[in-house]
Amino acid sequence: MDRFSILVGDITKSDAQAIVNAANTTLLGGSGVDGAIHRSAGPGLLAECRTLGGCETGRAKLTGGYDLPARYVLHTPGPIWRGGDQGEAALLASCYRSCLELAEARGVETVDFPSISTGVYGYPLAQAAAVALKAIMDFLRDHALPRRVRMVCHTERAAEVYRQTYNMLYAGEKAERL
Ligand code: ADP
Repeated sequence: MDRFSILVGDITKSDAQAIVNAANTTLLGGSGVDGAIHRSAGPGLLAECRTLGGCETGRAKLTGGYDLPARYVLHTPGPIWRGGDQGEAALLASCYRSCLELAEARGVETVDFPSISTGVYGYPLAQAAAVALKAIMDFLRDHALPRRVRMVCHTERAAEVYRQTYNMLYAGEKAERL
């Protein structure tokens, strides 16, 4: 699948048209990637987020990118890991799908995702990777937009888990492109 790749980097520096923020339900900023995105975007982002009235876990809302290179930010609150039997997987898949649906509806061609819920929210990385990759690949199969989607992992270790999971799930599908 040459529309999808996994890389290591800082998503605030991404050249994608839209980057995804692993937000919380207030949409008013937080730690981790959320804090980094707000710091790089500047105060305009928080001002717009204040007008949105928060966002439910598993849903997504779009704002401008302000001082970021990205034109848009797709904010999605991931599920907090509570052991795995509280609907976490369905909610996490819904985060990825909701962002991609919103991107498609706005004609966004390129989207970069961080690894949602795998920081402070404690979702086990390998399990989160399987959910994320299935949700993204299922969407790309059925939709022409976004044209390109990337997972931007913050560490090489996380990227390796995503690559291994991808290879396990899609062994026959040109994994060498990753
Ligand atoms: P959550 O609350 O959804 O768990 P976190 O921000 O705590 O969100 O972590 C989500 C993931 O984002 C983690 O894997 C973390 O390593 C990663 N991350 C943190 N900063 C960045 C960044 N600047 N670019 C890309 N990924 C990041």
